[in-house]
Amino acid sequence: MKFKKQTIYLVKICVKYVFLSIMFVSLVSCNEQEIKEPLKIVDLYGQLKVESSNIVNKDGETVYLRGMSLFWSQWIDKYYNYNCIKWLRDDWKCTVIRAAMGIEPDGYLSNAEREKTKIKKVIEACIDLGIYVIVDWHDHRAEAHQTEAIAFFKEIATEYGKYPNIIYEIYNEPLQISWTDVIKPYSETLIREIRTIDNNNLIIVGTPTWSQDVDIAAANPVEFENIVYALHFYAATHKQWLRDKAQNALTHNIALFASEYGTCESTGDGLIDYEELDKWFTFMDTYQLSWCNWSIADKEEAASAIKPGADADGNWNEEDLTESGKIIREKIRSSNESIFNRLN
Ligand code: CA
Repeated sequence: MKFKKQTIYLVKICVKYVFLSIMFVSLVSCNEQEIKEPLKIVDLYGQLKVESSNIVNKDGETVYLRGMSLFWSQWIDKYYNYNCIKWLRDDWKCTVIRAAMGIEPDGYLSNAEREKTKIKKVIEACIDLGIYVIVDWHDHRAEAHQTEAIAFFKEIATEYGKYPNIIYEIYNEPLQISWTDVIKPYSETLIREIRTIDNNNLIIVGTPTWSQDVDIAAANPVEFENIVYALHFYAATHKQWLRDKAQNALTHNIALFASEYGTCESTGDGLIDYEELDKWFTFMDTYQLSWCNWSIADKEEAASAIKPGADADGNWNEEDLTESGKIIREKIRSSNESIFNRLN
């Protein structure tokens, strides 16, 4: 009898112990869930690729990124910081930021380490914040700086090519030079070098005449995968004729990215053309083009999104925004809201 009682007692102890262990384990896993990082845009979209004239996400769905370009890094670098990028994600709802590394004058060619440090700060902020980042070789004569461009992009690809966040823009705006004889060979050389290290992230290729002759590039495209072509416009200067060229390019099944556009004239100043801007928005929405507006800068000119002296860390209120900044913020927020809602 005594033995039986003891056995029952021991069994009871064991059951209690197992029960407590289960409780403990479930409590720990519950805590793990609670401290898990919230989902971010790059978790949602993952590795981007190009299919026909579309950019698609890891699930094959067409996506289009909308966000802001920073200004030439050698001239206005105060917004190249984590807090500002976070503000642009959280308040403006940007899904992409373009870091425009100035090459000359007084840019990367004069002080490579200084400019590279700024760009890496933005890259690392975007990786942490889970948005895409365009690493832009902001140059009008890149064919004269090919060696430097190769070294730079190989370093970026080595350090960051494993992150789906990175988009390489290898030549901001070529001037009125030959696609076939100059820009295409330059682009192919750069792409080949990047692809030895990073075989899949998107690469944006510049097109002749300040990245407007997308139709010329489309007729004779580079033979690589995951390539998009830069279409740049300023609404008060580039009108239906440029949309026609873009439409023509798209019929060749190449992908376009408006990695830089302004609401005003191509000088970066002058009047804001509301009517043309509206037509461009309709065009980009219709063809699902990704874009970055030029720019997050407090320089006193029409293209700047913020007013002189606006806080380097973001935290801008309505009075800190320029006319252009107000329109663009509203457009990004309304267009990207549904994407951010998918993260909840
Ligand atoms: Ca990669």
